[in-house]
Amino acid sequence: MSDSTPPPSVLTTEELASQEILSGVDFHAVAAVLQHCPTRRLNAGDWLLTKGQPNKRMYFMLSGKLGIFLDDPSEPPLIHVEPGQTVGEMSVIDGSPASAHVVAIDASRLLEVDDRTFWNLVSVSHRFSINLLQLLARRMRHSNMNLRKVTLLGRELERNANVDPLTTLNNRRWWDDKFARLVERANRSEQSLSLLVLDIDYFKKYNDQYGHIAGDIVLKHVGKTLLRNLRSMDIAARLGGEEFVIALPMTDYVGARAAAERLRTEVKADKVQSADGEHLPAVTVSVGVAVIQSAESAQDFFSRADAALYRAKESGRDRVETWASPLK
Ligand code: GH3
Ligand code: MG
Ligand code: MG
Repeated sequence: MSDSTPPPSVLTTEELASQEILSGVDFHAVAAVLQHCPTRRLNAGDWLLTKGQPNKRMYFMLSGKLGIFLDDPSEPPLIHVEPGQTVGEMSVIDGSPASAHVVAIDASRLLEVDDRTFWNLVSVSHRFSINLLQLLARRMRHSNMNLRKVTLLGRELERNANVDPLTTLNNRRWWDDKFARLVERANRSEQSLSLLVLDIDYFKKYNDQYGHIAGDIVLKHVGKTLLRNLRSMDIAARLGGEEFVIALPMTDYVGARAAAERLRTEVKADKVQSADGEHLPAVTVSVGVAVIQSAESAQDFFSRADAALYRAKESGRDRVETWASPLK
């Protein structure tokens, strides 16, 4: 043995017995394989493994505490490695670099097992191999569970990013994308597509008179009325403030106008109650309607419906106005 080689360790039976991966193994066979393995001491803050760096050793934790860090070791660790657990075996098995940083949280003592010794253990102890498989299965389940959590969280974030929390209608961000696609499809298939732009009348006054909370309740009601009147193929959104949009695929001028009139009448007839059960007056809405023209852009199409809404406002509110010829 050269001077630079660390002295071999002498593991006690208790230390062997406390290792999860050695549970149930024949200690004599294993001790003979492990007897030349050195122990290693780390001070708090010392790095054992660096993410992305090659690693050909696994470590049995004898005492202390290690942290596994995916990125920044100044952040809280992903998990801890405690005495009785092992670290590094994945790299030894598949020869891949370390998948995370491993840093000592407390002063720690470890048994260092090189790859040859590791495979020797696999050969001499059937039980060690079973423990190893179980450990890997557990880890895989754990990471599948985390993956599921991340996926669900991602879906939830995506949903929240697309939904207006007050009315639960979709928001402008969602609308811009969906509407553009509907327009594209209508142009490709030469099928009709109608658009309603709907704005609550004198809503500023309503807020001033009945309060912002009453205004919010009315906005929710309007949202519900829209949703109630949609077919499954229709899409609706709250563009912001007191302005809503609805796209009606495969709907011509007559159908769109009828839908707009129905919405206008239903909103007006809505029974609205304040939070403490008081009756609140319903609002009225003005609606601009347009039917897509041949090869029209989403922007031009929208501008025409918006211009019709403007006309509805100009000509007295609480009414439906249509842009473009009734022949379309
Ligand atoms: P018009 O008939 O011309 O549409 O008049 P208006 O008062 O409805 O329109 P204006 O654009 O002047 O005012 C819109 C008002 O909508 C102002 C704002 O206080 C109110 N508003 C916008 N978003 C909300 C909201 O989330 N909650 C409540 N309560 N009010 C809102
Ligand atoms: Mg308004
Ligand atoms: Mg408005």
